[in-house]
Amino acid sequence: MDENTGSEGVAGLFAPERVAVVGATESEGSIGRAIVENLRADFAGETVPVNPNYDDVFGLDCYPDVGSIPGEVQLAVVVVPPGIAVEAVAECGEAGIRNVVVITAGFGETGSEGASRERELTAVAEEYGLNLVGPNSLGVMSTPSGMNATFGPDNALPGSISFMSQSGAFITAVLDWANDEGIGFKDVVSLGNKAVMDETDFVEAWADDPDTDVILGYLEGVENGQSFIQSAREATAETPVVMVKSGRTEAGAQAVSSHTGTLAGSEQAYEAGLEQAGVLRVENVQELFDFAQILAGQPLPESDDVAIVTNAGGPGVMTTDAVGDSNLSLASFSEETLEALSASMPEEANIYNPIDAIGDADIDRFERALDLALGDENVGAAVVLSAPTAVIDFDDLAEAITELQADHGKPIAAVLMGGDRTESAKAVLRERGIPNYFDPARAVRSLDALVRYRDIRERDYEDPTEFDVDRERAREILERAEDRGDNRLGVEAMGLLDAYGIPTPEGTIAETPEDAVSAAEGIEGDVVMKIVSPDILHKSDIGGVRVGVPDEEVYDAFEDLVTRARNYQPDATILGVQVQEMVDLDSGTETIIGMNRDPQFGPLLLFGLGGIFVEVLEDTETRVAPVSEREATEMVEGIRSAPLLRGARGREPADREAVVESLQRLSQLVTDFPAILELDVNPLVAGPDGVAAVDVRLTVDTDEL
Ligand code: ADP
Ligand code: MG
Repeated sequence: MDENTGSEGVAGLFAPERVAVVGATESEGSIGRAIVENLRADFAGETVPVNPNYDDVFGLDCYPDVGSIPGEVQLAVVVVPPGIAVEAVAECGEAGIRNVVVITAGFGETGSEGASRERELTAVAEEYGLNLVGPNSLGVMSTPSGMNATFGPDNALPGSISFMSQSGAFITAVLDWANDEGIGFKDVVSLGNKAVMDETDFVEAWADDPDTDVILGYLEGVENGQSFIQSAREATAETPVVMVKSGRTEAGAQAVSSHTGTLAGSEQAYEAGLEQAGVLRVENVQELFDFAQILAGQPLPESDDVAIVTNAGGPGVMTTDAVGDSNLSLASFSEETLEALSASMPEEANIYNPIDAIGDADIDRFERALDLALGDENVGAAVVLSAPTAVIDFDDLAEAITELQADHGKPIAAVLMGGDRTESAKAVLRERGIPNYFDPARAVRSLDALVRYRDIRERDYEDPTEFDVDRERAREILERAEDRGDNRLGVEAMGLLDAYGIPTPEGTIAETPEDAVSAAEGIEGDVVMKIVSPDILHKSDIGGVRVGVPDEEVYDAFEDLVTRARNYQPDATILGVQVQEMVDLDSGTETIIGMNRDPQFGPLLLFGLGGIFVEVLEDTETRVAPVSEREATEMVEGIRSAPLLRGARGREPADREAVVESLQRLSQLVTDFPAILELDVNPLVAGPDGVAAVDVRLTVDTDEL
């Protein structure tokens, strides 16, 4: 799939010279007819109908099958019934057609018969190395050639936004609206069931497309999170990617649940994965297009400081509030700017940011204020606000804004507030890529998106650190789960952490009270004793952990722990009792590091405060592994209670570097062993000089070993 699709292949998909419509017909109300009509409307290339029942369709020569078409065809659109669709696609492959869009529905979305049909389709596409879109797709569009190979009612206007959608209905709705708004597109693709090509392929293809300025996506899921992250990272270094993701389908997908399992759901994986990929994730459709338009139309600001220029006090204040809620800040003007402003503004005007040129400002005063603001070296971007007044004409203002934007090369978002009287001014602004909004908060959020994207572009994706580890020893420990026929491991697998260099206190598993006593004698001071049983996941819940046991009480403690376990579950498998060195909890903070394997993104790492806090506070950070040192640091510094680790209230600060390193080592462990389905170290005690992992719990898929 991903490896088959180079930009060459996708060029044939979006810029074909000849398109075959397999299943073309004139039959009223049919999809086959709609596709032919849409293609005939504006397509600069040639449309070739294929249908054994007709000699011609709308006056175009019709062929019985794709094999009979003379000359080369770059794209086939398949609209035949599901029962013969796979065969039709195979014929395309046989005929040397490399790009196929399968409109036909009745595949994976319809149950087990459809699912098996979809597998056949994928196999055929792989056999012939096809770039296959769909099945169950609305089709594809590309405006440079006027190609509308969809069965939707509207063609797109030309533009530089390329748009993929997992919902075909969403495309038709968006186009209807975008055409009214004057928003144009380069390519549009309805992904359908993604049997072959998915979001990763189109991110890659459009990243290489000089005519695409912004990549937009409406997704319900990501097929392969790891390769998506890789491709999007590369793409976003050049081209912004904005996505809205709906559907929380995988909620509770993991049947096996641990503390980490319940916290690190799939929604968190998307949030982390899309963020790590450099994708601007938006919550709604309005933001999707607000961000797309400003990213396509305006330059990136060099600083985060905005100037607000207005003739209306109230909206100016609203804008200031919105700036406060964003990553932007209000610019402070230089002395020269302030002097020049005060020389050209009336006494009552406010020359400090936000500049209020007041209600009687004519176009000259407004223009002068904006010119001075944009000319200030402390200003990175501007919001221009105007309410309708008798002395200012919106068309003049729009002209002035576009000229000053071009002169200064700084991004502007306009808020010319009003109804019909703004229409022509809006068109002037849009022509120059300047968005206009009624709501000042939208203008600010759009500028904020520019700043966020600028930061993404400047990101430096360092590789994960490779630590020297004992992989063989780790494998042996994991294999013990297999030998035992149980996929859950507890503190008996502590050596796994040790093999990967995560510090653990000294400890042994004693099988008899006598062994426990001699183990305790080998450890300095009092010890901690824990029941070791795959059937007891939360040891302290059943009184299975004894902290601070003096040597003389070890014998009895052993028997007591075993009795408690038997009372809890008479047939529990008891592997013994762990005798462990005490860790100083007074000067350390209990944290958790963990991993839950997400079906789409793979290993999702988690960091948070440990012990009971992890569930109560839900104060955790997640990232898709493998993580770099920078990402691991962001996790540790990113939790709300990070100040606690930095040493709040006279406490000694925790060794945060050691926590960061443990996270990176855990990242390496779970990347090396896909067999680890979930794992958590709770607590990882973060002390002033290093960390200690005192507890571990994991689930292993022994088939993966
Ligand atoms: P579980 O999570 O199954 O209840 P733990 O091994 O995490 O069992 O132990 C529960 C709690 O006991 C820990 O959160 C920690 O507060 C304390 N504890 C466990 N091991 C040690 C140790 N070696 N030194 C000090 N305290 C410990
Ligand atoms: Mg624990």
